Amino acid sequence: MREKLVAGNWKMHGNQAENKSLLNAVVAGVAELRGKDIAVCAPYPYLSLVQTMLRDTNIVWGAQNVSQYDKGAYTGEISAAMLKDFDCSYVIVGHSERRALYNEDSHTVALKYVAVQREGMVPILCVGETLEQRESGITEKIISEQLDAVMNMAGGASLGKAVIAYEPVWAIGTGKTATPQQAQEVHEFIRARVAIQNAEEADNLVILYGGSVKANNAAELFNMPDIDGGLIGGASLVATEFISICQALQ
Ligand code: PEP
Repeated sequence: MREKLVAGNWKMHGNQAENKSLLNAVVAGVAELRGKDIAVCAPYPYLSLVQTMLRDTNIVWGAQNVSQYDKGAYTGEISAAMLKDFDCSYVIVGHSERRALYNEDSHTVALKYVAVQREGMVPILCVGETLEQRESGITEKIISEQLDAVMNMAGGASLGKAVIAYEPVWAIGTGKTATPQQAQEVHEFIRARVAIQNAEEADNLVILYGGSVKANNAAELFNMPDIDGGLIGGASLVATEFISICQALQ
């Protein structure tokens, strides 16, 4: 049985006061949802705040990026061990914004994925195609390349301790959500691709959908057979929206 998960990706938003009030509202709003997996991925400077405020709640926390290196002269970088030091459970790797804006290639993403697992945390590996790639009919090729880079480096079995987020780039922050059928098709493809390497891990693999998930479309997405929850950007900054999305986990 796969446990469904909703993870918020705050991106580069918030400040101490806003984050405190958002966390207070979300903690209260999801308190009765014991047994559902809920996570918040905060910007680095607020990990200590998140750690303090979420410690005894049913919400876990994580980061949005990590260095591929363990330690050393990498000014401005944050290692997986540092994130572990703040009790992070999850780390997002390969978000499309990092691939596009910071030129992260699939090899670097795979190194980051391995670094996260080495510290005993769970990578949330983002994969997804651009609109141009979808319209050219190469969605599956793109997703395969992104997945294979990780499986070739870390092995198919490593997916037993990972989460995959399918995030079509054209749906992120655009208000254009993939239809449940469009998302389901790609989720099914991802599971089948992983099954070629490891059928058991494929069956247990949690695959999230991300891309303009809102309170009013979460349930129909999460009810699809291969969609195991969501990675939520903009709507994770609005307590009422995020709580409703968590409530859509069945
Ligand atoms: C994201 O950035 O991971 C995301 C899914 O963003 P949004 O929900 O705002 O589309």
